[in-house]
Amino acid sequence: MIVAIDGVTGSGKSTISKALAKKVGFAYIRTGSFYRALAYQAISNNIKPDDEPKITKMLQNTKIDADFTGQHVKICVNEKDVSDKLNSQEISIAASVISTLKPVRKYVSALQKQSAEIYPNIIMEGRDIGSVVFPNADLKVYIYCDIDERARRRKAQFEQNGEIGDINKIKNDILQRDYNDMNRKISPLVRLPEAFYLDTTSLSIEQCVDLLNEQIKNAKQHKN
Ligand code: C5P
Repeated sequence: MIVAIDGVTGSGKSTISKALAKKVGFAYIRTGSFYRALAYQAISNNIKPDDEPKITKMLQNTKIDADFTGQHVKICVNEKDVSDKLNSQEISIAASVISTLKPVRKYVSALQKQSAEIYPNIIMEGRDIGSVVFPNADLKVYIYCDIDERARRRKAQFEQNGEIGDINKIKNDILQRDYNDMNRKISPLVRLPEAFYLDTTSLSIEQCVDLLNEQIKNAKQHKN
């Protein structure tokens, strides 16, 4: 069974998908990690994330291995574990730029399909999973959250890591990433009419997980 979870930046997609996967015993694939790993590789090689010819060349010499089975996603680029290097603001912004390039989306799409072949039941989370990568997913979900709440949560996350975040800058960065995701030519983020719409603004993680668990149960009944 494939559960495709798409949605806006900072809506809680990853946290909810991970908790849901644990609850229902499915593998959890965070596809943003692939784009982040490529952004990391580009920055490490002094390549601008919008330089399509250089990025295309870089892809030919880049091998990404991902292990989604443990508590934490492990991502290696050319055998080097970069898992703990992928969450900075710099990488977030570069990932949203690099993900607009066609060769990059093709490269990541192949990785996503490989991951789905390995695990029979998956929760795959990203921006175009239900629309492009798995249009026949058994359940599609679109996760949304109000911008002020998203910025508040992101600021709290920064503070937990001992970083200080400026709320207006955080808000602008989130809106910029939403804009990039929704307005790119290839595989933009779209809210599909058939997707279950989950607004997390005033819900706890547990409430979100419970709602989606119900949706999975319904989808299973339809499948049988
Ligand atoms: O989800 P996460 O914030 O880790 O994703 C990083 C960036 O990768 C996003 O801003 C988005 O532009 C891009 N992305 C994408 N398609 C996906 C997953 C992520 O374009 N399926």
